[in-house]
Amino acid sequence: MQISEIYKSIQGESTFAGLPCVFVRLTGCNLRCSWCDSEYTFSGGHRMGMEEVIAEVEQLSPEGGLVEITGGEPMLQERELVPTMQRLLEDGYTVLLETSGERPLEDVPKQVVKVVDVKCPHSGAPDTFRLANLATLTARDEVKFVLSDRIDYEFARNFVSHHQLAARVNAVLFSPAFRKEAEGTRDASHCLLDPRELAEWMVADDISARLGLQIHKFIWDPAMKGV
Ligand code: SF4
Repeated sequence: MQISEIYKSIQGESTFAGLPCVFVRLTGCNLRCSWCDSEYTFSGGHRMGMEEVIAEVEQLSPEGGLVEITGGEPMLQERELVPTMQRLLEDGYTVLLETSGERPLEDVPKQVVKVVDVKCPHSGAPDTFRLANLATLTARDEVKFVLSDRIDYEFARNFVSHHQLAARVNAVLFSPAFRKEAEGTRDASHCLLDPRELAEWMVADDISARLGLQIHKFIWDPAMKGV
């Protein structure tokens, strides 16, 4: 696999937020989201075999725990990634897979928690979610919408309702997009959509979703990599 980085930090944006987590960040992405904070993963990285990845995860977290597979778009390297996720599960890790859902997800092991980031109209990558992936979602999975304005919010609200997402998955997450050039202060001023405004919309609509903030951007400088 082509790997950008493997590091340990705090999980920042799912129902696992706040837990220590090893991140395995794969190189390469086929989308170009306008607010992407991981453009450094589009190229570069280094080749690592499955055993090397497993060894590094074990070194960082020898007692098991949480491992997040992310990118870039990790499913672009499905052929090597699927057996690696299977091995991590067999070794006792809880495995999260962060994906846009543009690639087929049928071969992802069922015990993996998929965190699927459905792209909204103003993401820069609209209409890229593969609708057939809805059938792969299980009660352990999570679906996330990163929102930059009211149009994105209404798309997400209607998508959740139309596909009855709340009944299919463990959690539906609505998260304000962060300015990709954000740095310095660790507060909500960097959000493209004010979390308070989003909260008020969600309450008004009594929506079956939870508001999520990327908590690592409130703990460390938003520009910091490897956290
Ligand atoms: S899918 Fe993720 S890594 Fe790829 S461009 Fe969008 S935000 Fe960046």
